[in-house]
Amino acid sequence: MRLDRYLVPMPDSYHMTPDEFRQRGAEMVEWIARYMERVESYPVMSTVKPGEVRSQLAPHPPLHGEAWDDVMSDVDDVIMAGITHWQSPGFYAFFNGNSSGPSILGEMLAAGLGTQGMSWVTSPAATELETLMMDWMAEMLDLPPKFSSHSTGGGVIQDTASTSTLVATLLAREKATDYASNRSGLEPGLAAYTSAQAHSSVEKAIRLAGIGSDNLRLVAVDDTFAMRPADLAQAMEADVSAGLTPALVVATVGTTSTLGMDPIRQIGEVAATHNAWLHVDAAWAGTAAICPEFRHLHDGLELANSYLFNPHKWMFTNVDASAFYVADRAGLKRMMSVSAEYLRSAESESGEVIDYRDWQISLGRRFRALKLWFVIRHYGIEGIQHHVRRHVALAQDLAERVRRHPDLELAAPADLNLVCFRHVDGDAASEAILERVNSSGTAYLTHTKLDDRYVVRVNVGQTHTEQRHIDQLWELITG
Ligand code: PLP
Repeated sequence: MRLDRYLVPMPDSYHMTPDEFRQRGAEMVEWIARYMERVESYPVMSTVKPGEVRSQLAPHPPLHGEAWDDVMSDVDDVIMAGITHWQSPGFYAFFNGNSSGPSILGEMLAAGLGTQGMSWVTSPAATELETLMMDWMAEMLDLPPKFSSHSTGGGVIQDTASTSTLVATLLAREKATDYASNRSGLEPGLAAYTSAQAHSSVEKAIRLAGIGSDNLRLVAVDDTFAMRPADLAQAMEADVSAGLTPALVVATVGTTSTLGMDPIRQIGEVAATHNAWLHVDAAWAGTAAICPEFRHLHDGLELANSYLFNPHKWMFTNVDASAFYVADRAGLKRMMSVSAEYLRSAESESGEVIDYRDWQISLGRRFRALKLWFVIRHYGIEGIQHHVRRHVALAQDLAERVRRHPDLELAAPADLNLVCFRHVDGDAASEAILERVNSSGTAYLTHTKLDDRYVVRVNVGQTHTEQRHIDQLWELITG
């Protein structure tokens, strides 16, 4: 590179001034509002080919700052083609990652303040609002009192369910080894248990925590795709006989393939006989507990050592925000707290404040509590209940149509808002439905396999999905 490139006269400052920000910020809000209005008109799935987005963008970073209009035209002309529209009411894939106006405004304010709340002292409001939000949500879901900060436990916002489960796995490992790995490295001989339908994040956590995939038992499920507690008991006993220590059981409330509901109470009783940690993953379905009529899904939760649900899936809060609760917050601190002179403060030493850096893997942390605060204050409990119930009712409507259709059959119970079905003629016919729907551009479905058979999944949980979208989807399904 020629050095004289750097000898051009330079301005005093390259920053965006508050006035420019005011103008560009207002334009951005307008852009997002127009996107919200028009999102339904985009094909839900992006159709770009691998490499297509990158090939249209500058291969090297610019030496000189560029005009903002040029940046935004690349957003319009290149980036938008590569967007899969998770905020489209025709999005029924995976589990939704829904969002809402108040959540976006919360993100904006968090970025505007740019705080980093690793310790209470680095932004007291970030810590105290987070503790309050975790208590609010525990109250909204009617979680057992031990998960409240007023008791021995408490909650923390992790980035994702995968991280929440990893932290739970690490806590289980420490409990099983009496914190030995903190001191002298891993001890072999631990075993963990989850159902054959559990999310892949469980196995990832088991690997990362050094327990090892070979020591993870995938317990069989019944015909509702729920873990069989008797099989769990057998697997744990077999491991004890073989000299292993059962350290962790992960139960799922709402499995990813079918929304299977593991019976927490029976599983918890089995786990307790071996003094194993019980972690409950309710990443999607936990939000349903905001409605009293769905709280039975949490029956037995008082037996759990930790619990997670993802407001960033079904609670109108954009990714990322995973609510992770523990019954014993002292264990978290014991496992994670590493003192360094530069992190010390009188408030931390006093023991009167929470330093969330001791409740998570990373040190730095975003001010995620703001968007939860905005969402909960905007909707109120009744607003969230209204939309959760509406999603469930729409899914029930779809499930009923499937039940009545001579060529389709439900492949799993559809008790909440996931409808799994297949064509009676077999896999090719089921796959053809998915392809027809997805190539239409108006909806996006994903699939799973159950008993080795192809199954189409419809998750009804996008913020703006209404009856007319379900009617439209049904027409596509039935061709
Ligand atoms: N647990 C369950 C039951 C899930 O369905 C998912 C994702 O869909 C996860 C965990 C992982 O979620 P995250 O992306 O927040 O890690």
